[in-house]
Amino acid sequence: NISNDRPVIRQLDDAAINRIAAGEVVERPASAVKELVENAIDAGAKRIAVEVADGGKTLIRVTDDGCGIAAEDLPLALSRHATSKIDGSDLLNIHTFGFRGEALPSLGAVGRLTITSRVPGSEAAKIHVAGGKVEAVKPAALRTGTVVELRDLFYATPARLKFMRTDRAEAQAISDIVKRLAMAEPAIAFTLRDVSGGGEGRVTFRADRENGDLFDALHARLARILGREFAENALQIDATREGLRLYGYAALPTYSRGAAVAQYLFVNGRPVRDKMLTGALRAAYFDFLSRDRHPAAALFIDCDPTLVDVNVHPAKSEVRFRDPGLARGLIVSSLRHALAEAGHRASSTVAN
Ligand code: ADP
Ligand code: MG
Repeated sequence: NISNDRPVIRQLDDAAINRIAAGEVVERPASAVKELVENAIDAGAKRIAVEVADGGKTLIRVTDDGCGIAAEDLPLALSRHATSKIDGSDLLNIHTFGFRGEALPSLGAVGRLTITSRVPGSEAAKIHVAGGKVEAVKPAALRTGTVVELRDLFYATPARLKFMRTDRAEAQAISDIVKRLAMAEPAIAFTLRDVSGGGEGRVTFRADRENGDLFDALHARLARILGREFAENALQIDATREGLRLYGYAALPTYSRGAAVAQYLFVNGRPVRDKMLTGALRAAYFDFLSRDRHPAAALFIDCDPTLVDVNVHPAKSEVRFRDPGLARGLIVSSLRHALAEAGHRASSTVAN
């Protein structure tokens, strides 16, 4: 009789803890891609190649030319809360995408993960983990950087498998996240390739390294990702207020959309989906757009990491500004100003 049994408190083992964490960190293949590409960016990569098969369900492979992981550190990279990026003493001062040390152990708990890596001056090595079982480090062949290969995501958690959508939908979500990350990193070359069915695979997205100054490089990258029409209709934004810098491109009202599909917001280089920020964008265009139209923009807010908390959610797409009114005010006033000026220019051209 269960009700008469005294409940027993047990410590969960690492594999169980990692599976639980994976539920938060890895919702779907696109979230795995996000974690792996962010790791490559944190590693200082200049080229990042993403290969996926079957919407990322059977294979996600991210190859980078970054700093690499030393052979003796490979087991550490797979252990929970182990990170090279912070020392834990200052959670308010974070300059990297990662800091929780959760992504790799989580992925290794719910899929088959192989990390192959090489640091300059050493031999390459690899480590494999499947369903939380870590194997010994083995020698490997690799010229430089790191290759992380994730196969059969969620095979170890059948309940999760059922929540995945069609290959097409998952592939779309992967493409969307790679594009968002590529927008924020015009100095890094990205490719996304679908290798389903073997062979060389279809390149779904390619962006070479963009040179030039910040705005030239960003404009070129946005033209590639959002299309030439966006780039030709985009107003350059650059404003600073009390330690917050807002820059990027916002499209003319005539280039508005029927849905809020072309709104890309970044805080300290992180793609974010934040109600306060999208609300500010809507407010800025309020006088310029009819109610059923939505502005298109790619906007970046950069500030001292102490002015914004990115620690809100494991997937890290929400942020909390120390002074939300300041961020909102900066967006609303600088966009309104740019739109009004563009309007004046347009009407004076007509008048002439
Ligand atoms: P976090 O990114 O939060 O530190 P992860 O689990 O994603 O946690 O990664 C653990 C550690 O493994 C990182 O701190 C980093 O030292 C190392 N690492 C992961 N991916 C790469 C990579 N592509 N290149 C170099 N080092 C990496
Ligand atoms: Mg990480």
